Amino acid sequence: KAGHGPVGATKKRIPNVKNVLAVSSCKGGVGKSTVSVNLAMSLKNKGYKVGILDADIYGPSMPMLLGKREAKPAANEQKKILPVEALGVHFISFGLFIQEDDAVIWRGPMLGGVLNQFLFDVEWGELDYLIIDLPPGTGDMQLSMVQATEVDAAVVVSTPQEVALLDTRKGMKMFEKVNVPILGMIENMSYFVPDDNLDKKYFIFGEGGVKNACSELKTDFLGEIPMEIALRVGSDTGVPYMSSSAHEGRPVWNAYMELAN
Ligand code: ADP
Repeated sequence: KAGHGPVGATKKRIPNVKNVLAVSSCKGGVGKSTVSVNLAMSLKNKGYKVGILDADIYGPSMPMLLGKREAKPAANEQKKILPVEALGVHFISFGLFIQEDDAVIWRGPMLGGVLNQFLFDVEWGELDYLIIDLPPGTGDMQLSMVQATEVDAAVVVSTPQEVALLDTRKGMKMFEKVNVPILGMIENMSYFVPDDNLDKKYFIFGEGGVKNACSELKTDFLGEIPMEIALRVGSDTGVPYMSSSAHEGRPVWNAYMELAN
């Protein structure tokens, strides 16, 4: 655990950032990164200055999601790392420093070092929101990450199917341990809406899973994001759904704008 402070150690605040929000999930593949990037875009759409710290060391997907797979971050004269700009937000990612097909095994001290650099040696400038896309799961590593700095709030993303009460409870305990307030849970892939009938909902992964978990765990249900083909396509092509006004008024668009409120 070298490189990480003990639980309860004084946390350092990231300079010039008003709100630090951690996005977490108990499992991989539930859409945590998709939510992070589109939430960032929604906040940007509302006029806020937004940054994304992609701390997902297992699958750093921000360079792909933001269409910046080839980008290399520069440094300024003070040797601070400059985040990469994409579609009006700034981001930094482990993926920008490794080859895409590299199998990188980050061990404690090294990981701690890189993460510290990401937190404190990046010149974010003035930000209203910094969104931290955490690695999936709620183990020691995630704990070290959220205790390394002052995180103002956390959200947990799940699909209605993948919400395991036990895992989610563990996740909540993790944030409580380091005094990070949990805003609540976001349900992703809540239902599918066909293009030719926006009033129809198909509950592919079951209905109400996350809402039920929230009432069981006494945490807030923050909203549900439907499935849409365009959302997946936007992610695959590096143009996040919420960065394109072509989607304005669609169910996914409205769900994200509501979340950003
Ligand atoms: P995680 O970060 O939790 O591993 P991702 O954000 O990478 O998950 O999402 C997994 C896959 O599901 C991606 O291909 C993504 O484009 C897709 N996806 C996520 N949310 C939705 C949604 N609401 N509708 C359609 N596709 C989605």
